[in-house]
Amino acid sequence: MSIDTLRIILYTASAVIGLLVIYSMIRQKSHLARYFFCVALCSFIYILGYASELGARSLADIRFWLSFEYFGLAFISSFWFLLSWKLWYNHNPRFRMIVFVFVIPTITLFLVATQEYQGYFYRSLSLSAASGHCFVIIEKGPWYWVQNIYQFLLIIISFILQLRSWQRSGGSYSTDSFWILLGTVNLVPWILIYQLGLSPHNIDLGSFGIAFTTLFIAIAVFRFGALSSEEVLLYSIFTSIDDGVLVLDQDNKISEFNTAAQKIFPWLDVSSIGKPISNPSDAALFNLAQNQKIEKMIELSGAKRYYQGKFTQIYEGRSELGRIYLFRDMTESKLLMKRLRRYANFDVLTGLYNRRHFMERAEKALCQGQKAQKDMAMLMIDVDHFKNVNDRFGHIVGDKVLSAVGRVIKIRSKKFGIAGRYGGEEFVVLLQHAQREEAMEVAEGIRKSIEGIAIEKRMIPVKVTVSIGVSICKAGESTYNIDELLRVADSSLYQAKNRGRNRIEV
Ligand code: GH3
Ligand code: MG
Ligand code: MG
Repeated sequence: MSIDTLRIILYTASAVIGLLVIYSMIRQKSHLARYFFCVALCSFIYILGYASELGARSLADIRFWLSFEYFGLAFISSFWFLLSWKLWYNHNPRFRMIVFVFVIPTITLFLVATQEYQGYFYRSLSLSAASGHCFVIIEKGPWYWVQNIYQFLLIIISFILQLRSWQRSGGSYSTDSFWILLGTVNLVPWILIYQLGLSPHNIDLGSFGIAFTTLFIAIAVFRFGALSSEEVLLYSIFTSIDDGVLVLDQDNKISEFNTAAQKIFPWLDVSSIGKPISNPSDAALFNLAQNQKIEKMIELSGAKRYYQGKFTQIYEGRSELGRIYLFRDMTESKLLMKRLRRYANFDVLTGLYNRRHFMERAEKALCQGQKAQKDMAMLMIDVDHFKNVNDRFGHIVGDKVLSAVGRVIKIRSKKFGIAGRYGGEEFVVLLQHAQREEAMEVAEGIRKSIEGIAIEKRMIPVKVTVSIGVSICKAGESTYNIDELLRVADSSLYQAKNRGRNRIEV
């Protein structure tokens, strides 16, 4: 590769890094991004200086560009160290420390800039020419070694801090600390080749290494969002809350999500970042408008969980940055609602509908039945001499009897009936789509089964029978309504009682 090609590569690299410098200046949101800005700026100066040095034709030019380079090079490792410090400790180093890490580099810069007058950094500089280019031959002075060993130590310490940060973050490849660590590791081969004298014309390969390193840190800072301490706090809240959070950018691409969101949407992982939602059923959820209900049900280890979502649009100034979706776990309140609804609609003792809910359901069913031109029947069931059961065996046994009767009615009317507890020991069943014969059949089934209920107290059997009154509503008889059906069933029941109980009357 010719020197000119190398220079073009270096100029291109410096242009890219220059853009990163500008970008990081605009987007300086975390402290780490501020340190990145300094590292990138130093790299930019260094690489630009070195590319120019390679094109220099005289010793004076080379001297100039060397000094220029050191405005960046001398300080890179110090900023590198500060960035790593921030990464591990999550707070900025003290002012004294910041001053301290810049003492040696500042002296270095001074010595390089004044090299014509002393030989502490470069003992001597001379030119050699090869294939139409000038190369500088450097005889190193004592301070050269001070600066280099110092830099080396800073990089070693930085490496340790970065490695610990990476381990702390769980050793994942999608963390800022991993990419920063990669940036440090990347320097090793470049520096080794140069220091072992393996690079052609003794070209300083460190500049190439630093170009790559800067790119790695850019990824760390802007792709994986390196964090400042306030951000760490916010981030830990973000990751630990039970509510699922998912952030979409203005192009509807996923930019952030938390662990809870991963539980709700199992297809979410690191590779989803930067991509639109591909899961077809879930993608629809994220297209709903603000006033529409966003609901999601999942099955987690056999149990159903319900989530309700809502989103907030995020703006910076007037431009929309994207949307934050929040998914709240509604399972507990949903179950509570279910339980409350149960208490409100069902009779606790028998498990049948209570009177109010029976009337609601029956009214609806009657309406539908009339529309569909179907016969309907109403059964009114009353336990015979139930007062005697209570008096002889006590209320607890009485309750047992009612519960058993309820169970029978429930089972027998399950197929096409709506059954409820109408009052104390009175039950009602509305049979949908039942003609007289079917209604009689169901009623007879109930009567017989209840007769067969075997409850006993102290070996004495508790005898239970019921009387049933039936009313029929023929298709097309629109005069029938629920009250009329009940009234007629009740008078049939009255007849059944009068005619000796344990019987059915229509
Ligand atoms: P009939 O054959 O004429 O219906 O006589 P009956 O004794 O069954 O009728 P009555 O209406 O005189 O008595 C009903 C009794 O049911 C009165 C009441 O104490 C009892 N009862 C009502 N609700 C409950 C309940 O939830 N549990 C128990 N154990 N008894 C109840
Ligand atoms: Mg009664
Ligand atoms: Mg009774």
